Amino acid sequence: MPKFKLEYIWLDGYLPEPNLRGKTKIADAEPKSIEDCPMWGFDGSSTRQAEGHSSDCMLKPVALYPDAARENGFIVLCEVLLPNGDPHPSNYRNTVPEDADAWFGFEQEYFLMQNGRPLGWPEDGYPKPQGQYYTGVGFENVGDIAREIVEEHLELCLAAGINHEGINAEVAKGQWEYQIFGKGSRKAADDVWVARYIMSRLCERYQVTVQLHCKPFQGDWNGSGMHCNFSTKFMREVGGKPYFEKLMATFDKYRDEHIAAYGPDNHMRLTGLHETQSIDKFSWGIADRGASVRVPHAFVKNNYKGYLEDRRPNSMADPYKIASRVLRTLSEIPTE
Ligand code: ADP
Ligand code: MN
Ligand code: MN
Ligand code: MN
Repeated sequence: MPKFKLEYIWLDGYLPEPNLRGKTKIADAEPKSIEDCPMWGFDGSSTRQAEGHSSDCMLKPVALYPDAARENGFIVLCEVLLPNGDPHPSNYRNTVPEDADAWFGFEQEYFLMQNGRPLGWPEDGYPKPQGQYYTGVGFENVGDIAREIVEEHLELCLAAGINHEGINAEVAKGQWEYQIFGKGSRKAADDVWVARYIMSRLCERYQVTVQLHCKPFQGDWNGSGMHCNFSTKFMREVGGKPYFEKLMATFDKYRDEHIAAYGPDNHMRLTGLHETQSIDKFSWGIADRGASVRVPHAFVKNNYKGYLEDRRPNSMADPYKIASRVLRTLSEIPTE
């Protein structure tokens, strides 16, 4: 009888954004669903989640993914609980209201780095200016091992059941993107964290690191975002221009609260250049990639029904914090 390897992963207590942690539990039986995965624990004093004299934190399994990188392997995404069973203060998943009809699509941008430089950059200086890298092909545009990593990541994510919607090379050399869509307020955010885990672990073998900072390079190099595409049942089925206008006014009112949830150092990225709006302004625009919120053409054509794209969240943001903030703002808008 084979043994099964369950990698319990969770988010630690580091600020401003958490790191992923994981440890393996060996099981005799194959887990068929998350209910088959028992609670577990870890030393919170080593992850900035507890003091040494009372160090136990609990791991509550919340989502199960097949792990194609390991024979008989599974990834068990967990929430962190206090010893009394309450959510740990670092547990932002718990702050996302449960709503099966809220849909999110995140576009995770990132750089793959080796020896302090993005893959494909020369040892000294800079590569050719941006232009041909976005959705590019060829060694001169994407370098050598980057695509191999990106492809392997895609395969592992699909095998895990993660709902990737696509991948593409991005505007800066060495910069890439994947899109993850999920129905249910927590689903896409769960999948983003597991996809990040799979990517980091995969890159160990290539001696490559994943750079999630939103502006690793000054000058004429794009920063990295994590655009948040969102819709509720009401937005998809009822919508309308008056509702849309209230929605945008409420987003404007909570501009600072949104920015606070959208990842660290975003002032470096939201400059008004490189397809962004500046951090101290809120704007929306139809098909406008220089706006805070881009309104797809189809949304307007469909009598203001459908999804919207908030372009402000950055690559290092915690998708739970993003989803939580977006739904909180939406909850204030009357749907009468
Ligand atoms: P772009 O780069 O032009 O902004 P992408 O294709 O990279 O567009 O990303 C668009 C995202 O919008 C995808 O992740 C997709 O899943 C998401 N999306 C599409 N329809 C909806 C919807 N109804 N609700 C929420 N997200 C959606
Ligand atoms: Mn995209
Ligand atoms: Mn992009
Ligand atoms: Mn986008």
